[in-house]
Amino acid sequence: MKVTVLVGGVGGARFLQGLKTLLGDDGDITAVVNVGDDVWMHGLRICPDLDTCMYTLGGGIDTERGWGRIAETWHARDELAAYGADPDWFGLGDRDIATHLIRSRMLRTGYPLSAVTEALCNRWKPGVRLLPVSDDRSETHVVVTDPDDASGESRRAIHFQEWWVRYRAQIPTHSFANIGAEQATPAPGVLDAIEGADAVILAPSNPVVSVGAILAVPGIRSALRTTEAKVVGLSPVVGGKPLRGMADECLSVIGVDTSAEAVGKYYGARSDTGILDTWMIHSTDTATVPGVDVISVPLLMTDPKTTAEMAAVALRSAGLTP
Ligand code: GDP
Ligand code: CA
Repeated sequence: MKVTVLVGGVGGARFLQGLKTLLGDDGDITAVVNVGDDVWMHGLRICPDLDTCMYTLGGGIDTERGWGRIAETWHARDELAAYGADPDWFGLGDRDIATHLIRSRMLRTGYPLSAVTEALCNRWKPGVRLLPVSDDRSETHVVVTDPDDASGESRRAIHFQEWWVRYRAQIPTHSFANIGAEQATPAPGVLDAIEGADAVILAPSNPVVSVGAILAVPGIRSALRTTEAKVVGLSPVVGGKPLRGMADECLSVIGVDTSAEAVGKYYGARSDTGILDTWMIHSTDTATVPGVDVISVPLLMTDPKTTAEMAAVALRSAGLTP
């Protein structure tokens, strides 16, 4: 059974874990992973969503924090701070730095991100094929009221990481821009994975800066619209709130309400101009999305077994028998 899942970081990784638990060795799972959060810092290429998926599925994640390595130490971060190195608002743990050294060296010698990811996965064996949506830079930037301008009149674009980690999305924000997206092409295997799948799933990831950033890469949306597989989405919004993170801040910037219904409408029906056949919402929510089958089931990913049940519903709604 070939299943392709569009994912961001934590929400995506947890969903993949459940799907992997459900399908066991019968599964042929491909994750198309967001690269919009990726950034160079301290000379290292940081790919938060790829690493969250790789470490979560490979058993190396710090489950409390949701990102980075378990049993981490922070000596390098503290040394950088002692030098006053910029940026001072982003920390990489010592163990994690090894991953970043290898990735950055391989990128500098000319390997594409997809090949680098495959090489890193030789160690972690995530049991799922992790494909960056693109080997090209396609980075989410955020247009904000310049925090350094006392008059409050000028606007500036900052990288998504700075907005999210440094400012916790708590500054006046006007829009998102996917820098590089227009020239980006899908990484090798991405379009085939969508077009040749038995089911395509949009994980309960951030609809704007995870799934939305994936959709910004030309070719992805049209592959979702033309694939013979059913496309099933899961809501990351439950009871009018994201379960973790600040998806509400992202949705309000693009003028979408933080509700399961509004997110479903934002994705829209394939029978119209959108990308969904089925929209899964939490059992206590209600939603009407024209042209889309709405299914309400428990959507709390408390552990891989519970998540496996969500994944089973998703596959059944796509006409498969897991
Ligand atoms: P990030 O890149 O680490 O922010 O992770 P994602 O974009 O993949 O996922 C973030 C989204 O996951 C948030 O908007 C959360 O609302 C959603 N999320 C986290 N845990 C759960 C859960 O248990 N159930 C559902 N339905 N959504 C969840
Ligand atoms: Ca992310």
